[in-house]
Amino acid sequence: MIEEVFENIFRMEIPLPGNPLKAINSYVLKGGTRFLMVDTGMNRQECQEAMGSFLKELRIDLKRTDFFITHLHADHLGLVSELVTESSQVYFNSPDMEIIKDRNHWEKMAAAARLHGFPEADVEEAIMKHPGRRYHARGPLNLTLLREGDMIQVGGYALRCIETPGHTNGHMCLYEPKKKIFFSGDHILDDITPNIALWSENHDPLQKYLQSLDKVYGYDVEKVLPGHRRPFPHHRRRITELKKHHEVRANEVISILQKGKQSAYQVAAQMTWDIDCRRWEDFPHPQKWFAAGEALAHLQYLLGKGQVKKEQHEGKTLFLVP
Ligand SMILES: [Zn+2]
Repeated sequence: MIEEVFENIFRMEIPLPGNPLKAINSYVLKGGTRFLMVDTGMNRQECQEAMGSFLKELRIDLKRTDFFITHLHADHLGLVSELVTESSQVYFNSPDMEIIKDRNHWEKMAAAARLHGFPEADVEEAIMKHPGRRYHARGPLNLTLLREGDMIQVGGYALRCIETPGHTNGHMCLYEPKKKIFFSGDHILDDITPNIALWSENHDPLQKYLQSLDKVYGYDVEKVLPGHRRPFPHHRRRITELKKHHEVRANEVISILQKGKQSAYQVAAQMTWDIDCRRWEDFPHPQKWFAAGEALAHLQYLLGKGQVKKEQHEGKTLFLVP
């Protein structure tokens, strides 16, 4: 499906088979001499085929196409390695690049998962089946790193880079002030809640995410062009809902911990999830992984606020209410 959302800005829906997200939006901005693509799809055949037919229909010449990737996740970055040409720029951010470059990234995540109660037998399988591992971009990629306030000009649009850490540490959006268009990546989505997950001790992604929501609230936006699902106008209403959602979740985590000290994995198993499975045991491994990561992000946030404490017990981290 292709939709012209603004003059010379096209939304292409790239399918993600078997993934609860269903599809990712890739956008193409057509200029006189160059094109800009915002996010791409996973590095898998179904995405590549859909992308190929869309590019043909829109008559996009990849030799004249540059890429802006909002963040490192495979559904946004993965396909870029199959699309990029020698004359293409790939715009990206530095914090997410550090993670891509880290050869021990998955091992570190696995170690953190074990520490936080993920069953040993499931760690390997969750990582092997993780879409971020299976469908990632072939490296090495030649990236052009951008920062807050950097500008990209294309097709009469002047796009400003807006750093929005939270969903990933380096997540970046694009803002077009004249038409008040906001390319939100996975920072703000309309009918799904962006996953805020943590698999290390050194960050507080939920705190960062909430700050980034407050930052974007201040922008004058007429249309959000998100990474998933349909574009929408009401960014402030959605930001208020997302903040409320995380407040409710934080309270749920505290009430679970009131039963006694538990690992992040145990907390995740008792939280309510919007998924077609009645029992935690039936969750597919990647979904358990995302859920436990999200529980941990909430626990880390509550830890930072002094509302929970943690202690070590037989090589595992347990959380408790003080
Ligand atoms: Zn993402």
